[in-house]
Amino acid sequence: MDIILLGPPGAGKGTQAERLVTNRGMVQLSTGDMLRAAVREGSPIGLQAKVVMDAGELVSDAIVCALIGENLDRIENRGAIFDGFPRTLAQAEALDLLLAERGRKLSYVIELEVNEEALVDRITGRFSCASCGAPYHDRFKLPKVDDTCDVCGGHDFKRRDDDNELTVRTRLAEYRAKTQPILPFYRERGILHGVDGMGSVGEVAAAIDAILDS
Ligand code: ADP
Ligand code: ADP
Ligand code: ZN
Repeated sequence: MDIILLGPPGAGKGTQAERLVTNRGMVQLSTGDMLRAAVREGSPIGLQAKVVMDAGELVSDAIVCALIGENLDRIENRGAIFDGFPRTLAQAEALDLLLAERGRKLSYVIELEVNEEALVDRITGRFSCASCGAPYHDRFKLPKVDDTCDVCGGHDFKRRDDDNELTVRTRLAEYRAKTQPILPFYRERGILHGVDGMGSVGEVAAAIDAILDS
């Protein structure tokens, strides 16, 4: 089963993907994580992407589609969770091809709906474990033991350069202009499901489970 978690920055895509990976043995394919890895490596793609990401704009379709293609080739028959991809109609069309070439097919597209002020709160308070990437929040999800990752026990945490209020506004505008127009593409196919993303992590997770088990 391949699915897309769609939604604006900070909606909870990564948080819910992490749960599905643990509970269902699916594989998370996050273009944001892939791009940040390229930035850390200092590869030519990373150097080019860093400027665009820091501005809150979208990286080119060609780059992110190539990254998704490479990663799809590695996951064999496990289910994919596309997180942060596709973000444009061109990416959505390219994804159909990438999947068809590999004999795969989308089962569900889940849209997490969260209002804009809550998104800004979620993003400006976001941090994650430096070792395993587990997501946390200054107010909504602190580690159970101070300064210790719940998942791996690590003590180092990090924040993203682009998680500041100014960049967030641009990212939200990009989402409205370029990503929201994808919704009808999936709605017409009957695979789009909206989920109220304003509830707790557990409530959102239960709503997603109900769709995947339907
Ligand atoms: P968030 O978790 O806040 O939704 P991501 O980690 O998915 O953010 O993405 C961070 C940045 O990486 C984006 O603002 C954009 O610059 C770039 N990016 C990630 N995925 C894509 C994509 N599918 N298309 C274009 N740019 C992308
Ligand atoms: P996305 O991947 O969509 O950008 P994240 O999963 O990284 O979003 O979540 C953004 C921030 O909001 C993180 O700090 C996360 O801990 C927090 N968060 C995620 N889901 C919820 C929720 N349902 N309620 C409150 N905070 C949440
Ligand atoms: Zn950790």
